[in-house]
Amino acid sequence: MTIEWKELVEQRKESIIADTQALLRKKSILDPDTSGVGQPFGKGIADTYNWLLTKSQNDGFKTKDIEGYAGHIEYGEGKEIIGILCHIDVVPEGEGWSVDPYGAHIVDGKIIARGAIDDKGPTMAAYHALKLVKELNIPLSKRVRLIIGTDEESEWRCVDRYFKEEEMPQMGFAPDADFPIIYSEKGICDLFYKRALQDDEPTGEHELITFKSGHRLNMVPESAVALIQSDAAKTLKEQFDSFVKEERVSGKATMISDKQVELFVQGKSVHGMEPDKGINGGLELARFLMNASFNESGGDFLSLLGERFARDSRGEKLGVVHRDNQLGDLTMNLGVLHYEKEKEATIGINLRYPKGADFEGVKKILDQELNEKDFIGTVKTHETPHMVEESSELVKALAQVYRDQTGEEADLLAIGGGTYARSLNEGVAFGPLFPKREDLAHQADEAIHIEDLLKATSIYAQAIYELAK
Ligand SMILES: [Zn+2]
Repeated sequence: MTIEWKELVEQRKESIIADTQALLRKKSILDPDTSGVGQPFGKGIADTYNWLLTKSQNDGFKTKDIEGYAGHIEYGEGKEIIGILCHIDVVPEGEGWSVDPYGAHIVDGKIIARGAIDDKGPTMAAYHALKLVKELNIPLSKRVRLIIGTDEESEWRCVDRYFKEEEMPQMGFAPDADFPIIYSEKGICDLFYKRALQDDEPTGEHELITFKSGHRLNMVPESAVALIQSDAAKTLKEQFDSFVKEERVSGKATMISDKQVELFVQGKSVHGMEPDKGINGGLELARFLMNASFNESGGDFLSLLGERFARDSRGEKLGVVHRDNQLGDLTMNLGVLHYEKEKEATIGINLRYPKGADFEGVKKILDQELNEKDFIGTVKTHETPHMVEESSELVKALAQVYRDQTGEEADLLAIGGGTYARSLNEGVAFGPLFPKREDLAHQADEAIHIEDLLKATSIYAQAIYELAK
């Protein structure tokens, strides 16, 4: 049977656009102040979610709600389930919009709104895809569930709760990232190493008072500032000035008093999944200071960072390198580097590793290295790598659909970040952002091209058909 998916979608264009606009005009931001029974994430999210479930019922779908956390919209019969995982919550709009972020205005063929690409636009594409399959009255041998999450942008409490009560689909996809297909995502671990600081014997030439760099583990620190007490503060300033010149580091030294100097390094902040694209301000400053003579705990902190971690996001010096041509390298981002005299020193590491790397082994080496300098580690969060085999039925089917509809190769992507697909056992991220399109998720003037919205709807409809027929 040949089904003209694109044509069928084109015929429904007006209602797809209108429904997408309607969904985008609802402000679905996490709001704990208005949370309550049946609306755990506040009124805005609840209203949006309930609107979609009611609409689905009116359109003749079976629906299920798990107390406002998450729910599904279902079509088809059978034992197995195909899951399509979407979310209707959005991040706050922020500043800098050229139009009302909740107006869903159409400008130059694009719908502009918070959530247009992440993830309300794609949610509507998937919804209309399922609706199209239903309208064609195609008998399916599986149940297809559009699973609607409401807390993806925060803590994923929606899917955590949902999968406690509902069956895990045998396979599925999340329209919440990029086309063609993201089949592999690295393991992600946030580690904090801390050392309590007592009043040190002033052993070295200088004393480290404070060192501050970075706020979040998944970002490369954009700058660093250290306050140092020393009889030779002036000399240290001069040495820093020449370091800045010779090493082409962007930085500045300021005398606070005769015996105190403040050193500042400007780095470049990027997402922690590829630290080499940025400049870690904290590690650059440590690279300079590691050669000076410090009090014991200050010296330990600086030499550890400067000698063992600076300019080495792959862990070559520690001997933890894991390279995989397809799945990418193990990486470490030192996102939080803090030292406060007589209080505490903290080294925060965001470790990402592809399937096949020995996480426990790497963690042991890190522990040994940092324990030696009296830093004690705790794992704050850890998600293991997520991967679906290239040869799986799921990947093969989606790749075929993508090729059919776009005429392009369906390259399989491996990424360092985590997508919503990892909450499915056998799930990949599949769209909605097409290659070469600018990613405006979480930014001002977030938008979806209407052409892409329709293309995605058509692709999802065929995907549903192929996976569930
Ligand atoms: Zn999203």
